[in-house]
Amino acid sequence: PTDIELKDVRIAFPTASGTELVAVDGVHQHIPERTFVSIVGPSGCGKSTLLAAVAGLQKVTSGSVRIGDRPVNGPDRAVGLVFQEDSTLPWRTVVDNVRFAMQVAGVSKAEQLERAAAAIELVGLKGFEKSRPTELSGGMRQRVALARTLALRPSVVLMDEPFAALDQQTRILLGAEVLRIWRQTHQTVLFVTHDIAEAILLSQQVWVMSYRPGRIIDVVDVDLPEERS
Ligand code: ADP
Ligand code: ADP
Repeated sequence: PTDIELKDVRIAFPTASGTELVAVDGVHQHIPERTFVSIVGPSGCGKSTLLAAVAGLQKVTSGSVRIGDRPVNGPDRAVGLVFQEDSTLPWRTVVDNVRFAMQVAGVSKAEQLERAAAAIELVGLKGFEKSRPTELSGGMRQRVALARTLALRPSVVLMDEPFAALDQQTRILLGAEVLRIWRQTHQTVLFVTHDIAEAILLSQQVWVMSYRPGRIIDVVDVDLPEERS
């Protein structure tokens, strides 16, 4: 478990007309370790850009991002990512999809199999180890993507609209699953969504972002019964 600190983060892109497009401005926030934070706001307000900066995939124009005791300068093994797009490899079975990231990370085969089995069970896909993504629903494929990330045992998990491509019923179901999993793993989570109900259901804290420039205009602590902590 690790905390995340964003210090006066500003991210601007050059435009054709010579002016700059300020995607993120003045973001100054701290996420304590083991906390689940959501970012909500309209499409184009800068949520993905901010998340990408925490992931080390987007340079900040000014300010800084720190995860634990390390400044973020690029992708980091301690950070797990889940994106909206289906990222499963269709020619690999579920278990081999989950093992893939660990293979890249150089985890031993025995350890890969052990961690893959635990992660597959954690996301509710036990029994589907030998299935291929093409045989699964979109929701189940996102469970595979989640398992692949969790099997790396990241201390920080970043999710960018992971369920946006799914139907409403599946989204609600998977939201509940993410919450159940978080209660077991207690990772530090930053979750991007345009769905305020989803944010409130899942998070301990919701950051509300506004459009152009992308600023955090409100921080809402969600107090719910003990089962949340
Ligand atoms: P959201 O995730 O809230 O929908 P984004 O972070 O994707 O918003 O985008 C925020 C703003 O930054 C948008 O106006 C978008 O067009 C712009 N933007 C994002 N990435 C780039 C880029 N690589 N180059 C130029 N503009 C970008
Ligand atoms: P191990 O059995 O390898 O010592 P841990 O002590 O890390 O595993 O976690 C115990 C169980 O909790 C795991 O078997 C798994 O089901 C679940 N778990 C905890 N954290 C994670 C995680 N990041 N990814 C997957 N499963 C986890």
